[in-house]
Amino acid sequence: MTPGNPLIAAIEAGGTKFNLALGTGPDGLRATARIPTTTPGETMAAVLAWLEQASLEHGPFAAIGVGSFGPLELDPAAPHYGYITSTPKPGWPFTDVAGPLQRRFGVPLGFDTDVNAAALGESLWGAGQGVDPLVYLTIGTGVGGGAILNGRTLHGILHPEMGHLQVPAPIGLSGEAVQCHCPYHDSCLEGFICGPALAARWGAPAESFAPDHPAWLSVADTLARGLVSILTILSPRRIILGGGVMHAPGLLPAVRDAVARHLNGYLQAPALLDPEGQYIVSPGLGDQSGLLGSIALGQQALAASR
Ligand code: ZN
Repeated sequence: MTPGNPLIAAIEAGGTKFNLALGTGPDGLRATARIPTTTPGETMAAVLAWLEQASLEHGPFAAIGVGSFGPLELDPAAPHYGYITSTPKPGWPFTDVAGPLQRRFGVPLGFDTDVNAAALGESLWGAGQGVDPLVYLTIGTGVGGGAILNGRTLHGILHPEMGHLQVPAPIGLSGEAVQCHCPYHDSCLEGFICGPALAARWGAPAESFAPDHPAWLSVADTLARGLVSILTILSPRRIILGGGVMHAPGLLPAVRDAVARHLNGYLQAPALLDPEGQYIVSPGLGDQSGLLGSIALGQQALAASR
């Protein structure tokens, strides 16, 4: 640890597991851990205990960064700042995540969505370096999107919830509109292309589908419609697609093709027209975008406190 690059505690809070790290960046990870997401009390107690032990072994940390599943309250002036709010995850609605960490450790804390954290990590150290605006989307157990604008994660009245973009329902093999799997919406991106939605539609887990399974062209088409909406609203200079579903061989090129098809020549930027180009890409940090981005959130909070 150098004075200019202090140790940061990073927490990537997910619906099935919390990933933890002490480190300074991609080349400076001192310790990592994975804690299953059970009840808020049990999980937060395990997080606090690990951070205390890790700081005894590796030295004190100067700030904490949290990238969490949401929805979240990100307004520091709001009474529930630092909370997970209206999540459908049982037991977790209105869970205070930032508060116990701040009370126990008393260091600056950065708090943002897991996907905004991932976007920040990719913009600093991954596939989005020097690219602004930047969008990061994950397609896995859920679908979420974060954005970097002018070097900061994008917030608004709440925060982006790109997984719930409204898209047309795909048409199934029987000619019927596919049923949306989202408990809140009747026609949203997550409800058609997240892992559980694919398993429900096709009757098997998505990771078991062969590369020529008809699911993939349908995923590519529906995802592309969502990406075209993102493109027309935010005009990002690059879109990074992460998450387990995107590990399917051939899916990324199929998404690029479908985006070009749905744009239909309307937007004429050279980067958009090159199907082999660097416009829609995989994460540069693999599956660590969110955890490393949480380090970056801690670094930003530390800088802002000085
Ligand atoms: Zn939805």
